[in-house]
Amino acid sequence: MTAPLLAIATQHDLPPSADSVVIGGGIVGVCAAYWLARAGQKVVLVEKGAVGAEQSSRNWGWCRQQNRDARELPLSTRSLALWEEMAQEIGDSLGFTRCGLLYLSNDAAEIEGWAKWGRFARGEGVETHMLGAAEAAARGAATGQSWLGGVWAPSDGIADPARAAPMIAKGVEKLGGQVVQDCAARGLELEAGRVAGVITEKGTIRTRSVVVAGGAWAASFLYQLGIAFPQASVRASILSVAPGAQGLPDALHTAPVSVTRRADGGYTLAISGRANLDPTPGALMGARHFVPMFARRWRALRPGGAQAWTAGFETRRRWALDRPTPMERVRVLDPRPSASQINLTLRRARALLPALRDVPVQAAWGGYIDSTPDGVPVIDSDIGIPGLVLAAGLSGHGFGIGPGVGHLVADMLLGRQPITEVTQYRLARFERSQWGKVAEF
Ligand SMILES: Cc1cc2nc3c(=O)[nH]c(=O)nc-3n(C[C@H](O)[C@H](O)[C@H](O)COP(=O)(O)OP(=O)(O)OC[C@H]3O[C@@H](n4cnc5c(N)ncnc54)[C@H](O)[C@@H]3O)c2cc1C
Repeated sequence: MTAPLLAIATQHDLPPSADSVVIGGGIVGVCAAYWLARAGQKVVLVEKGAVGAEQSSRNWGWCRQQNRDARELPLSTRSLALWEEMAQEIGDSLGFTRCGLLYLSNDAAEIEGWAKWGRFARGEGVETHMLGAAEAAARGAATGQSWLGGVWAPSDGIADPARAAPMIAKGVEKLGGQVVQDCAARGLELEAGRVAGVITEKGTIRTRSVVVAGGAWAASFLYQLGIAFPQASVRASILSVAPGAQGLPDALHTAPVSVTRRADGGYTLAISGRANLDPTPGALMGARHFVPMFARRWRALRPGGAQAWTAGFETRRRWALDRPTPMERVRVLDPRPSASQINLTLRRARALLPALRDVPVQAAWGGYIDSTPDGVPVIDSDIGIPGLVLAAGLSGHGFGIGPGVGHLVADMLLGRQPITEVTQYRLARFERSQWGKVAEF
């Protein structure tokens, strides 16, 4: 069984025109559409499959400031407040709660890294508490073992990956926006070099503003327009167990395994950072951009197989706008998880937390995580075509900052003061070497 997801009904027909069109119904796309609709725009969101069905329902649900790269920390702080605002406006069904995040370790170097980050974060006004051995043992009592130390991040939290994107899409509709699923955007119509419309499989929508929030598909879409966006994906494998385990922390990270409470009372289990590298045309052609990232993270990566190549989401072929594209062939990117990684994760989780020994596995799934060469997203309105904004490359931690990324996109399109500085999110930064620029955490 794949990742649980709330299915929503949306409309089938496209309007002939809109103030803005958002391509992609992941957390970034629905949040961008939400803030645009809230500002009074006539917005249409097109999603090739089902809202939330790719990365945005396959993640752990962590909404964290803890260990964020400096370039993302202000956006993540703002996003936590926006999660609260959206949850209040839409209802409590986003599953957002500031339950706090717990990190435990027996590795002095890892603990010192967290302490270093804590000193930096304090300067940014972010609360985080280092834990000594006694406090770590108390907060980690469910593990029944001793710990050298840890961190408690009380103002961070989690949201429900199975419901957040679909419920925000429903919020878009309540604000007067339109959401259309099973509708792939194939390309753009340009007039005098600027955006004039979006060509979809169901017809064309005239508009002067377009947001590409296509997750792992964004680079292939931009390739059709002659825009180079260095993006590559890795395949994560993850599982959930049924409700029943008592006394566990809501969200716990340790190096061997991490666990997160799900809205149904079950838990998501995963190994942080561990993933398979499935070659794709896009990754091979852009490989030089990813050498610094690879040099930093290679220990966590395992060789993969051909499934990403076959799925075609990182194709470097041109497609015709009047014929079905790879996006209509693969409505939902649903990769097979690595069986060995799923088994290892389960074994480690049950060894770490005895309460998990008697609860059965509920589901296991794979998810392609799209990344930029420095592990920081691109959120940019200056990518070569006036009227076009790119918001992708969320690099494995975009669920938590989705509300802020969406807000920033709306700020750009509406010409408002952005909620945070934007230069660090520019696409043009990849024209320079990324050595020394890869996000630390
Ligand atoms: C296993 C795993 C664990 C993770 N854990 C966390 C975590 O705990 N916290 C965190 O913050 N982040 C986490 N992440 C990362 C997070 O899930 C992603 O960064 C985030 O969901 C990306 O959102 P998105 O909207 O950019 O992309 P997606 O959710 O992938 O959405 C993109 C959407 O665009 C659609 N689309 C693409 N092209 C087109 C087109 N041309 N026309 C129409 N539709 C199109 C796709 O169908 C898709 O639905 C995790 C990811 C994974 C896989």
